[in-house]
Amino acid sequence: MKSDSQKTFHVKSFGCQMNVYDGERMAEMLGAEGYAPAAEGADADLVVLNTCHIREKAAEKVYSDIGRLKRADGSRPTIAVAGCVAQAEGAEIARRAPSVDVVVGPQAYHRLPDLIARAQRGEKAIDLDMPLESKFGALPKRAGGQRPTAFLTVQEGCDKFCTYCVVPYTRGAETSRPFADLIAEARALIAGGAREITLLGQNVNAWDGADERGRVIGLDGLIRALAAEDGLERIRYTTSHPNDMADGLIAAHGEVDKLMPFLHLPVQAGSDRILAAMNRSHSVESYLKVIERVRAARPDIAISGDFIVGFPGESEADFEATLDIVRATNYAMAYSFKYSRRPGTPAASMDGQIDEAVMNDRLQRLQALLNEQQQAFNERTVGRTTRLLLERKGKHDGQLIGKSPWLQSVHVTAPGLAIGDMVDVRVTSAGPNSLGAEPLMEEVA
Ligand code: SAM
Ligand code: SF4
Repeated sequence: MKSDSQKTFHVKSFGCQMNVYDGERMAEMLGAEGYAPAAEGADADLVVLNTCHIREKAAEKVYSDIGRLKRADGSRPTIAVAGCVAQAEGAEIARRAPSVDVVVGPQAYHRLPDLIARAQRGEKAIDLDMPLESKFGALPKRAGGQRPTAFLTVQEGCDKFCTYCVVPYTRGAETSRPFADLIAEARALIAGGAREITLLGQNVNAWDGADERGRVIGLDGLIRALAAEDGLERIRYTTSHPNDMADGLIAAHGEVDKLMPFLHLPVQAGSDRILAAMNRSHSVESYLKVIERVRAARPDIAISGDFIVGFPGESEADFEATLDIVRATNYAMAYSFKYSRRPGTPAASMDGQIDEAVMNDRLQRLQALLNEQQQAFNERTVGRTTRLLLERKGKHDGQLIGKSPWLQSVHVTAPGLAIGDMVDVRVTSAGPNSLGAEPLMEEVA
């Protein structure tokens, strides 16, 4: 409960799940500093815009948001810009938007309280450092959000340097958080009510570390250790790179019951020529081979992906090869984007930049195919019995929305059920984005 003299904050996160996680850690840190959460931006004493730089549209959004942070009396909150736009644009942000007081990169946000204090003394406080000592050690311990699902960042940064992507520049080199820290954080999340944990990383399947006996393990080892934790029912991980799908991780999909049958494995394009220009370091064939092996280990696994259309030099034939790989893989869901030219990346200065109209047309055709596959996948679930983890309230009285093992949103109405319960259901209907189901029995806690 907020007292009258207590300062308030609002953290708004854009973009990926790792930003959502960082936003939660910043909120917990500000809470530990004595701030209380405010419902909306301009009312708060401090607003943190936790930004995304992956595509131009996402990056530009921060400036319109800054503009809106003005109160009726003309005053404004203290404004901090965090995240990848902060890292990429640095001091330029404060020049373009003078109302910004603090600019802090994704590897330095543990220093936010100090930066805010500097801003309150009238300085423009800018910290784009990527310190060797990890920010995680300096953050307050996790309290757990009393929510049934939680994110846990296990790996950060990227050394892959795909030619279109800003991540290696904004998030820095690939690093894995230590095993013991992750187990401790997972235990705190479970104690705080989490029944499902999603392990996060830009290349989460590149995670490695030494377990409690000093043995070097990969992500599958971490998953197996977490699966032994009482109270944790479900484990997911995202995002993976095709080249880092190790044998052990593939095998875990067939062996670890708590590991959900879902794999987000971006391919980006279906033409080897474009994959090479993207510096993806995998081919169409090697990607399809991984999919085949994952399906052999876990036949009902749902496959998801990311696609970019209109990469420089992409011909109609290249694009059709992307449609071919979509047909060959048969996705349960996917994200698809128009190529966005990002300053400083090698692709930004490549010849053969593609017309907006051509990109729009290709994106539409790709999405039509992906939507068809998603609807077909959802329809194949109808009639199945499965188990849901209930995550939030639905629109109707007594209705709750949970996730299936395959990450589908499922609506169910049953008196006596509550958020955080797990319930066995029979799926009765399927739409493009969600399913309907009826409960089979009372909650099995
Ligand atoms: N590490 C992951 C991988 O290898 O696929 C993805 C991380 S990235 C934050 C998420 C997605 O954004 C990518 O998979 C890609 O599809 C998309 N993306 C990245 N840069 C992009 C760009 N310049 N234009 C359009 N989409 C982009
Ligand atoms: Fe970006 Fe490629 Fe690294 Fe993914 S693997 S974060 S797309 S550079």
